[in-house]
Amino acid sequence: MAAPTLARTAVVVGSSVAGVRTARALRTEGFDGRVVLVGEENELPYDKPPLSKQFLDGRWDDARVRLLTAEAAAEADIELALGVAAQRLDVAAGAVVLADGRRLDYDVVVLATGAAARPSPWPVESGVYVVRTLADSRALAAQLLVDQPVVVVGGGFIGAEVAATARRLGRQVTVVDPLDAPVGRVVGAEIGSLFTDLHH
Ligand SMILES: Cc1cc2nc3c(=O)[nH]c(=O)nc-3n(C[C@H](O)[C@H](O)[C@H](O)COP(=O)(O)OP(=O)(O)OC[C@H]3O[C@@H](n4cnc5c(N)ncnc54)[C@H](O)[C@@H]3O)c2cc1C
Repeated sequence: MAAPTLARTAVVVGSSVAGVRTARALRTEGFDGRVVLVGEENELPYDKPPLSKQFLDGRWDDARVRLLTAEAAAEADIELALGVAAQRLDVAAGAVVLADGRRLDYDVVVLATGAAARPSPWPVESGVYVVRTLADSRALAAQLLVDQPVVVVGGGFIGAEVAATARRLGRQVTVVDPLDAPVGRVVGAEIGSLFTDLHH
């Protein structure tokens, strides 16, 4: 029987926490082939949790939210293909086809493309913001410095965090949600009411 062939190129699509951890784990677990990390945002990988908290209110800067610097990627021999989306997989040929026409041949491909926010039909110039990416959080952070009332649609964790951050910055905030209590869907009405008191 032929010996199993060793994977030589691993392409990881998605440059957020799952993609970065996978690329790094390949190295720490001894994979010595080529590792390519593909991300559609033109940003070095960053962590999302601070985007509704410490980054949004200005306590943390860009450097603090990075998951991987260019230097750390080079040191771990992880190639970065950022600012370009993976458009399709050519499974028969074993290639990831990028939006700019490049093809990345792979032996192993990992899809770590996560989730996207429900798209807003309104541009930020209209005063409507979505919070999912670093660019979203930057834009909202700038707007929260202006003394204007804020309406947060959605009282889940991220909505409640944005509301608390806006309050900390001195804004007048209204949270709109079909449930009586923020994060009530996850923690139930009783604990949710504690969050309501906290936000008041
Ligand atoms: C504002 C905010 C606050 C949060 N706070 C918390 C918290 O306090 N605690 C907690 O546990 N979780 C929190 N989360 C959730 C947490 O950030 C996510 O669970 C985590 O980011 C998921 O990581 P992921 O790598 O699976 O996917 P994602 O972070 O969704 O990343 C997917 C990546 O894939 C890229 N991508 C998608 N399609 C393509 C493509 N075709 N080609 C190339 N790249 C592509 C995207 O651009 C993105 O960079 C928060 C999320 C947000 C948005």
